[in-house]
Amino acid sequence: MQRIVVLAGGIGGARFLRGLQQAAPDADITVIGNTGDDIHLFGLKVCPDLDTVMYTLGGGIHPEQGWGRADETFTVKEELAAYGVGPEWFGLGDRDFATHIVRTQMIAAGYPLSAVTEALCRRWEPGVRLLPMTDDRVETHVLIDTEDGGQKAVHFQEYWVRLRASVAARAVVPVGAEQAKPAPGVLDALAAADVILFPPSNPVVSIGTILAVPGIREGIAEAGVPVVGLSPIVGGAPVRGMADRMLAAIGVETTAEAVARHYGSGLLDGWLVDTVDSAAVDAVEAAGIRCRAVPLMMADTDAAAAMAAAALDLAGEVRA
Ligand code: GDP
Ligand code: CA
Repeated sequence: MQRIVVLAGGIGGARFLRGLQQAAPDADITVIGNTGDDIHLFGLKVCPDLDTVMYTLGGGIHPEQGWGRADETFTVKEELAAYGVGPEWFGLGDRDFATHIVRTQMIAAGYPLSAVTEALCRRWEPGVRLLPMTDDRVETHVLIDTEDGGQKAVHFQEYWVRLRASVAARAVVPVGAEQAKPAPGVLDALAAADVILFPPSNPVVSIGTILAVPGIREGIAEAGVPVVGLSPIVGGAPVRGMADRMLAAIGVETTAEAVARHYGSGLLDGWLVDTVDSAAVDAVEAAGIRCRAVPLMMADTDAAAAMAAAALDLAGEVRA
Protein backbone atom coordinates (compact mmCIF):
# COMPACT_ATOMS: atom_id res chain seq x y z
CA MET A 1 0.00 0.00 0.00
CA GLN A 2 1.29 3.42 -0.96
CA ARG A 3 1.86 5.71 2.02
CA ILE A 4 1.27 9.35 1.20
CA VAL A 5 1.92 12.24 3.57
CA VAL A 6 0.32 15.60 2.75
CA LEU A 7 1.06 18.94 4.45
CA ALA A 8 -2.19 20.90 4.41
CA GLY A 9 -3.75 24.25 5.18
CA GLY A 10 -7.50 24.81 4.85
CA ILE A 11 -9.47 25.08 1.62
CA GLY A 12 -6.69 24.44 -0.91
CA GLY A 13 -5.40 21.50 1.12
CA ALA A 14 -8.82 19.99 1.79
CA ARG A 15 -10.08 20.17 -1.79
CA PHE A 16 -6.84 18.64 -3.03
CA LEU A 17 -7.12 15.84 -0.47
CA ARG A 18 -10.62 15.01 -1.65
CA GLY A 19 -9.17 14.63 -5.14
CA LEU A 20 -6.26 12.56 -3.86
CA GLN A 21 -8.64 10.12 -2.19
CA GLN A 22 -10.42 9.66 -5.50
CA ALA A 23 -7.17 9.28 -7.45
CA ALA A 24 -5.56 6.88 -4.97
CA PRO A 25 -8.43 5.09 -3.22
CA ASP A 26 -6.19 2.40 -1.73
CA ALA A 27 -3.48 4.71 -0.44
CA ASP A 28 -2.78 5.23 3.23
CA ILE A 29 -2.92 9.02 3.64
CA THR A 30 -1.60 11.00 6.60
CA VAL A 31 -2.30 14.73 6.74
CA ILE A 32 -0.08 17.09 8.72
CA GLY A 33 -2.38 20.06 9.33
CA ASN A 34 -1.54 23.69 9.97
CA THR A 35 -2.46 24.95 13.44
CA GLY A 36 -0.90 28.42 13.15
CA ASP A 37 -4.34 29.82 12.27
CA ASP A 38 -5.83 28.57 15.54
CA ILE A 39 -7.55 31.17 17.66
CA HIS A 40 -9.39 31.38 20.98
CA LEU A 41 -12.84 32.93 20.59
CA PHE A 42 -15.53 33.15 23.27
CA GLY A 43 -13.32 30.98 25.46
CA LEU A 44 -13.22 28.25 22.81
CA LYS A 45 -10.30 26.85 20.88
CA VAL A 46 -10.96 27.07 17.15
CA CYS A 47 -8.74 25.21 14.65
CA PRO A 48 -9.91 26.46 11.24
CA ASP A 49 -7.57 24.45 9.04
CA LEU A 50 -7.96 21.12 10.84
CA ASP A 51 -11.73 21.57 10.76
CA THR A 52 -11.80 22.48 7.07
CA VAL A 53 -9.97 19.24 6.27
CA MET A 54 -12.15 17.21 8.65
CA TYR A 55 -15.45 18.66 7.41
CA THR A 56 -14.46 18.51 3.72
CA LEU A 57 -13.38 14.87 3.82
CA GLY A 58 -16.16 13.92 6.22
CA GLY A 59 -18.92 15.40 4.07
CA GLY A 60 -19.91 18.24 6.43
CA ILE A 61 -18.36 21.23 4.69
CA HIS A 62 -20.29 24.19 3.30
CA PRO A 63 -19.73 23.31 -0.36
CA GLU A 64 -19.52 26.73 -2.02
CA GLN A 65 -17.87 28.58 0.84
CA GLY A 66 -15.24 25.89 1.40
CA TRP A 67 -15.11 26.41 5.18
CA GLY A 68 -17.64 26.01 7.97
CA ARG A 69 -20.60 23.63 8.04
CA ALA A 70 -23.30 22.99 5.47
CA ASP A 71 -26.87 23.85 6.53
CA GLU A 72 -25.51 26.20 9.16
CA THR A 73 -27.49 28.58 11.39
CA PHE A 74 -26.17 31.49 13.43
CA THR A 75 -28.40 31.73 16.49
CA VAL A 76 -25.56 31.62 19.03
CA LYS A 77 -23.66 34.33 17.18
CA GLU A 78 -26.77 36.54 17.17
CA GLU A 79 -27.34 35.97 20.86
CA LEU A 80 -23.71 36.83 21.64
CA ALA A 81 -24.04 40.00 19.58
CA ALA A 82 -27.18 40.90 21.58
CA TYR A 83 -24.96 40.83 24.66
CA GLY A 84 -22.43 42.98 22.82
CA VAL A 85 -19.94 40.14 22.95
CA GLY A 86 -17.66 39.92 19.92
CA PRO A 87 -15.74 39.53 17.81
CA GLU A 88 -18.54 39.79 15.27
CA TRP A 89 -16.15 39.45 12.31
CA PHE A 90 -15.50 35.74 12.80
CA GLY A 91 -18.42 33.68 11.52
CA LEU A 92 -18.99 30.78 13.88
CA GLY A 93 -22.20 28.91 13.18
CA ASP A 94 -24.22 26.83 15.62
CA ARG A 95 -23.11 23.46 14.25
CA ASP A 96 -19.50 24.59 14.16
CA PHE A 97 -19.73 25.79 17.78
CA ALA A 98 -20.32 22.23 18.91
CA THR A 99 -16.98 21.13 17.48
CA HIS A 100 -15.16 23.90 19.34
CA ILE A 101 -17.00 23.14 22.58
CA VAL A 102 -16.02 19.46 22.41
CA ARG A 103 -12.43 20.37 21.56
CA THR A 104 -12.11 22.94 24.33
CA GLN A 105 -13.66 20.60 26.88
CA MET A 106 -11.23 17.80 26.00
CA ILE A 107 -8.24 20.13 26.11
CA ALA A 108 -9.37 21.41 29.52
CA ALA A 109 -9.54 17.77 30.63
CA GLY A 110 -5.88 17.36 29.68
CA TYR A 111 -5.97 15.78 26.25
CA PRO A 112 -3.43 17.02 23.70
CA LEU A 113 -4.75 18.49 20.44
CA SER A 114 -3.65 15.40 18.50
CA ALA A 115 -5.84 13.16 20.70
CA VAL A 116 -8.73 15.62 20.47
CA THR A 117 -8.45 15.72 16.67
CA GLU A 118 -8.48 11.93 16.55
CA ALA A 119 -11.61 11.90 18.72
CA LEU A 120 -13.38 14.47 16.53
CA CYS A 121 -12.43 12.45 13.45
CA ARG A 122 -14.12 9.37 14.90
CA ARG A 123 -17.37 11.10 14.09
CA TRP A 124 -16.35 12.46 10.69
CA GLU A 125 -14.36 9.48 9.37
CA PRO A 126 -12.35 11.60 6.94
CA GLY A 127 -10.58 8.53 5.53
CA VAL A 128 -7.16 10.00 6.29
CA ARG A 129 -5.12 10.17 9.45
CA LEU A 130 -5.36 13.84 10.42
CA LEU A 131 -2.54 15.08 12.66
CA PRO A 132 -2.00 18.62 13.87
CA MET A 133 1.55 19.73 13.06
CA THR A 134 2.12 20.16 16.80
CA ASP A 135 0.30 19.86 20.11
CA ASP A 136 2.01 23.05 21.26
CA ARG A 137 0.54 26.49 20.87
CA VAL A 138 1.68 28.25 17.69
CA GLU A 139 -0.03 31.44 16.57
CA THR A 140 0.71 33.19 13.32
CA HIS A 141 0.94 36.95 13.75
CA VAL A 142 1.13 39.56 11.02
CA LEU A 143 3.03 42.81 11.42
CA ILE A 144 1.15 45.79 9.94
CA ASP A 145 1.62 49.58 9.84
CA THR A 146 -0.42 51.73 12.20
CA GLU A 147 -1.89 55.14 11.34
CA ASP A 148 0.55 56.92 13.66
CA GLY A 149 3.47 55.61 11.61
CA GLY A 150 4.32 52.73 13.91
CA GLN A 151 3.77 49.01 13.53
CA LYS A 152 1.78 46.42 15.39
CA ALA A 153 1.30 42.68 15.32
CA VAL A 154 -2.18 41.26 14.87
CA HIS A 155 -3.38 37.67 14.97
CA PHE A 156 -3.47 36.14 11.50
CA GLN A 157 -7.27 35.77 11.65
CA GLU A 158 -7.67 39.43 12.49
CA TYR A 159 -5.51 40.32 9.51
CA TRP A 160 -7.20 37.86 7.15
CA VAL A 161 -10.82 37.90 8.22
CA ARG A 162 -11.39 41.28 9.89
CA LEU A 163 -9.00 43.41 7.79
CA ARG A 164 -9.34 41.20 4.68
CA ALA A 165 -5.62 41.75 4.09
CA SER A 166 -6.44 45.33 3.06
CA VAL A 167 -3.16 46.68 4.45
CA ALA A 168 0.33 45.48 3.56
CA ALA A 169 1.85 42.77 5.73
CA ARG A 170 5.39 43.72 6.79
CA ALA A 171 6.24 40.38 8.34
CA VAL A 172 4.63 37.07 9.18
CA VAL A 173 5.71 35.45 12.44
CA PRO A 174 4.65 31.98 13.59
CA VAL A 175 4.81 32.81 17.29
CA GLY A 176 5.80 29.78 19.35
CA ALA A 177 6.91 27.67 16.39
CA GLU A 178 10.56 27.61 17.43
CA GLN A 179 9.72 25.99 20.75
CA ALA A 180 7.10 23.65 19.30
CA LYS A 181 7.59 19.92 18.84
CA PRO A 182 5.98 17.91 16.04
CA ALA A 183 2.83 16.17 17.29
CA PRO A 184 3.04 12.44 18.01
CA GLY A 185 2.99 10.52 14.75
CA VAL A 186 4.22 13.36 12.52
CA LEU A 187 7.87 12.34 12.25
CA ASP A 188 7.00 8.64 12.10
CA ALA A 189 4.60 9.29 9.22
CA LEU A 190 7.28 11.22 7.33
CA ALA A 191 9.86 8.48 7.93
CA ALA A 192 7.44 5.81 6.65
CA ALA A 193 6.19 7.82 3.64
CA ASP A 194 6.55 6.66 0.03
CA VAL A 195 5.74 10.11 -1.27
CA ILE A 196 5.21 13.55 0.30
CA LEU A 197 2.88 16.10 -1.30
CA PHE A 198 2.40 19.85 -0.83
CA PRO A 199 -1.11 20.66 -2.05
CA PRO A 200 -1.88 24.11 -3.45
CA SER A 201 -2.01 25.52 0.09
CA ASN A 202 -0.72 28.94 1.12
CA PRO A 203 3.10 28.67 0.95
CA VAL A 204 3.61 31.14 3.81
CA VAL A 205 0.87 30.80 6.42
CA SER A 206 -0.12 27.17 5.77
CA ILE A 207 2.84 25.12 4.50
CA GLY A 208 5.41 27.66 5.69
CA THR A 209 4.05 27.47 9.23
CA ILE A 210 4.13 23.67 9.26
CA LEU A 211 7.73 23.76 8.02
CA ALA A 212 8.58 26.21 10.81
CA VAL A 213 8.07 23.50 13.45
CA PRO A 214 11.60 22.25 14.16
CA GLY A 215 12.10 18.71 12.90
CA ILE A 216 9.45 18.67 10.18
CA ARG A 217 11.60 20.11 7.40
CA GLU A 218 14.42 17.75 8.42
CA GLY A 219 11.97 14.83 8.59
CA ILE A 220 10.90 15.52 5.01
CA ALA A 221 14.48 15.66 3.75
CA GLU A 222 15.52 12.57 5.69
CA ALA A 223 12.57 10.55 4.39
CA GLY A 224 14.47 10.37 1.09
CA VAL A 225 11.28 10.00 -0.95
CA PRO A 226 9.86 12.17 -3.75
CA VAL A 227 8.43 15.48 -2.55
CA VAL A 228 6.03 17.04 -5.06
CA GLY A 229 4.12 20.31 -4.75
CA LEU A 230 1.32 21.99 -6.68
CA SER A 231 1.23 25.72 -7.24
CA PRO A 232 -1.46 27.77 -5.47
CA ILE A 233 -0.50 30.63 -7.77
CA VAL A 234 -1.98 30.52 -11.26
CA GLY A 235 -1.27 33.21 -13.84
CA GLY A 236 0.47 35.43 -11.31
CA ALA A 237 -2.33 35.50 -8.73
CA PRO A 238 -3.65 33.29 -5.95
CA VAL A 239 -6.65 31.26 -7.06
CA ARG A 240 -8.52 32.24 -3.89
CA GLY A 241 -7.66 34.49 -0.99
CA MET A 242 -4.84 36.93 -0.52
CA ALA A 243 -1.70 34.80 -0.62
CA ASP A 244 0.03 37.53 -2.61
CA ARG A 245 0.03 39.67 0.57
CA MET A 246 1.76 36.91 2.47
CA LEU A 247 4.30 36.25 -0.28
CA ALA A 248 5.11 39.97 -0.50
CA ALA A 249 5.76 40.00 3.26
CA ILE A 250 8.50 37.41 2.84
CA GLY A 251 9.86 38.95 -0.36
CA VAL A 252 8.66 36.29 -2.78
CA GLU A 253 7.03 37.24 -6.09
CA THR A 254 3.50 36.00 -6.73
CA THR A 255 4.36 33.56 -9.49
CA ALA A 256 4.35 29.78 -9.69
CA GLU A 257 8.08 29.86 -10.43
CA ALA A 258 8.98 32.08 -7.46
CA VAL A 259 7.06 29.86 -5.05
CA ALA A 260 8.93 26.79 -6.36
CA ARG A 261 12.26 28.58 -5.92
CA HIS A 262 11.20 29.69 -2.44
CA TYR A 263 10.67 26.06 -1.40
CA GLY A 264 13.85 25.21 -3.28
CA SER A 265 15.37 22.03 -4.65
CA GLY A 266 16.55 21.08 -1.15
CA LEU A 267 12.92 20.48 -0.23
CA LEU A 268 11.06 19.87 -3.51
CA ASP A 269 11.79 17.27 -6.16
CA GLY A 270 8.80 18.07 -8.36
CA TRP A 271 6.45 21.00 -8.96
CA LEU A 272 3.25 21.29 -10.93
CA VAL A 273 2.25 24.61 -12.47
CA ASP A 274 -0.97 25.40 -14.29
CA THR A 275 -1.01 25.20 -18.09
CA VAL A 276 -1.28 29.01 -18.25
CA ASP A 277 2.15 29.08 -16.57
CA SER A 278 3.81 26.55 -18.91
CA ALA A 279 6.42 29.18 -19.78
CA ALA A 280 7.73 28.78 -16.19
CA VAL A 281 8.55 25.07 -16.60
CA ASP A 282 12.09 25.55 -17.93
CA ALA A 283 13.02 28.06 -15.24
CA VAL A 284 11.78 25.75 -12.47
CA GLU A 285 13.72 22.85 -13.97
CA ALA A 286 16.81 25.07 -14.17
CA ALA A 287 16.41 25.50 -10.40
CA GLY A 288 16.77 21.72 -10.06
CA ILE A 289 13.08 20.90 -9.60
CA ARG A 290 11.29 18.61 -12.07
CA CYS A 291 8.33 20.55 -13.42
CA ARG A 292 5.21 19.88 -15.49
CA ALA A 293 2.32 22.10 -16.57
CA VAL A 294 -1.16 20.62 -16.08
CA PRO A 295 -4.58 22.16 -15.34
CA LEU A 296 -4.56 23.18 -11.66
CA MET A 297 -8.04 24.58 -11.13
CA MET A 298 -10.05 22.50 -8.65
CA ALA A 299 -13.45 23.25 -10.19
CA ASP A 300 -14.73 19.91 -8.87
CA THR A 301 -13.46 16.71 -7.29
CA ASP A 302 -12.65 15.16 -10.69
CA ALA A 303 -10.40 18.10 -11.51
CA ALA A 304 -8.69 17.81 -8.11
CA ALA A 305 -8.30 14.05 -8.67
CA ALA A 306 -6.59 14.66 -12.02
CA MET A 307 -4.19 17.05 -10.27
CA ALA A 308 -3.45 14.47 -7.57
CA ALA A 309 -2.84 11.80 -10.23
CA ALA A 310 -0.44 14.15 -12.04
CA ALA A 311 1.41 14.79 -8.77
CA LEU A 312 1.77 11.05 -8.11
CA ASP A 313 2.96 10.53 -11.72
CA LEU A 314 5.59 13.21 -11.28
CA ALA A 315 6.66 11.58 -8.00
CA GLY A 316 7.10 8.30 -9.90
CA GLU A 317 9.17 10.07 -12.52
CA VAL A 318 11.57 11.69 -10.06
CA ARG A 319 11.94 8.40 -8.23
CA ALA A 320 12.95 6.59 -11.42
P1 GDP B 1 -6.71 28.23 3.69
O1 GDP B 1 -6.03 27.81 4.95
O2 GDP B 1 -8.19 28.04 3.73
O3 GDP B 1 -6.28 29.58 3.21
O4 GDP B 1 -6.28 27.18 2.60
P2 GDP B 1 -4.89 26.66 2.05
O5 GDP B 1 -3.71 27.33 2.64
O6 GDP B 1 -4.93 25.18 2.08
O7 GDP B 1 -5.04 27.09 0.55
C1 GDP B 1 -5.10 28.41 0.15
C2 GDP B 1 -4.51 28.51 -1.22
O8 GDP B 1 -5.20 27.61 -2.06
C3 GDP B 1 -4.64 29.89 -1.85
O9 GDP B 1 -3.36 30.44 -1.94
C4 GDP B 1 -5.23 29.61 -3.22
O10 GDP B 1 -4.54 30.27 -4.24
C5 GDP B 1 -5.10 28.10 -3.37
N1 GDP B 1 -6.18 27.50 -4.13
C6 GDP B 1 -7.50 27.50 -3.83
N2 GDP B 1 -8.21 26.88 -4.80
C7 GDP B 1 -7.30 26.50 -5.75
C8 GDP B 1 -7.41 25.82 -7.00
O11 GDP B 1 -8.48 25.44 -7.47
N3 GDP B 1 -6.23 25.61 -7.68
C9 GDP B 1 -5.03 26.03 -7.21
N4 GDP B 1 -3.95 25.77 -7.96
N5 GDP B 1 -4.90 26.65 -6.03
C10 GDP B 1 -6.02 26.89 -5.32
CA1 CA C 1 -5.67 28.59 6.98
